[in-house]
Amino acid sequence: TERLFGGFRKTSERLTENLSGIVGKTRLDEGQLDDIEDALIMSDLGPRAAARIRDRLAEERFERDADSEAIMEVVAREIADILRPVARPLDIVAFPRPQIILVIGVNGSGKTTTIAKLAHLFQEQDYSVMLAAGDTFRAAAIGQLAIWADRLGVPIVKGPEGGDPASVVFDAVKAATQQGIDALIVDTAGRLQNKRELMDELAKIRRVLGRINPEAPHDVVLVLDATNGQNALSQIEIFKEVAGVSGLIMTKLDGTARGGVLVAAAEQYGLPIHAIGVGEKIDDLRPFSPDLVARVIA
Ligand code: GDP
Repeated sequence: TERLFGGFRKTSERLTENLSGIVGKTRLDEGQLDDIEDALIMSDLGPRAAARIRDRLAEERFERDADSEAIMEVVAREIADILRPVARPLDIVAFPRPQIILVIGVNGSGKTTTIAKLAHLFQEQDYSVMLAAGDTFRAAAIGQLAIWADRLGVPIVKGPEGGDPASVVFDAVKAATQQGIDALIVDTAGRLQNKRELMDELAKIRRVLGRINPEAPHDVVLVLDATNGQNALSQIEIFKEVAGVSGLIMTKLDGTARGGVLVAAAEQYGLPIHAIGVGEKIDDLRPFSPDLVARVIA
């Protein structure tokens, strides 16, 4: 919680700053509601969530001279209502084993680190884990994943640089099935520069998986960097199109003032949010707690 509070403090400070000077009367007037809506948008909550919170505030009766704190309380309650339906941990439930989890996202979003954090989380829950280095385009990506695998003591399946990602994934599924592994976490390429190529590559991986097991991939987790603010939302749009997305993990919520984008994502896409990244260390992945996040943001 310490880190979570630290992380969202900047978002909260920004929102508080944007809301300062607004004092509630019995009901807020149109001008005040406009100001609040603007403030919410400036805090990266997005137009839809901002409009929804505005509507809620418009109905609210305040004590005479209610301060911005009373307003923030209503904002927090509405944010929690937006976030609650999308909070869903990534559970290992697949049978027969393994559960195949594709991890997608642009390079630099924190994909590799998040895979390591997930592996660690599953290990703590007593599940066996295997990694697959499906980003064969970047030698550094294979190397980085191998270092994490070594550190965590989990097996990794990798191919040569420039090799066929789908064949790495095929080998990994075979190995994981033989070894009775619970969770197979697959790293993938994140070169958005060439959308067509990326789309083909991810589609091929999905095709190969689907042939082995019609249920696979069981999860397609999109990793998003919160510091990208509204750009994170366009990434959801793009990856929904190129790969399909079953859930989100948002990283780098420590120390960014743009945590409000989590609320925008929840309201606009309704995709499950599995967890949030609040640092570079292996245990810096936190369960997504709507009430806590709402309370910290507003
Ligand atoms: P990838 O290119 O998407 O695989 O990204 P990496 O996993 O290599 O991460 C890129 C950088 O972001 C690295 O320096 C990570 O340590 C850092 N990073 C990843 N997740 C977080 C996070 O939640 N918070 C912070 N502060 N840094 C993170």
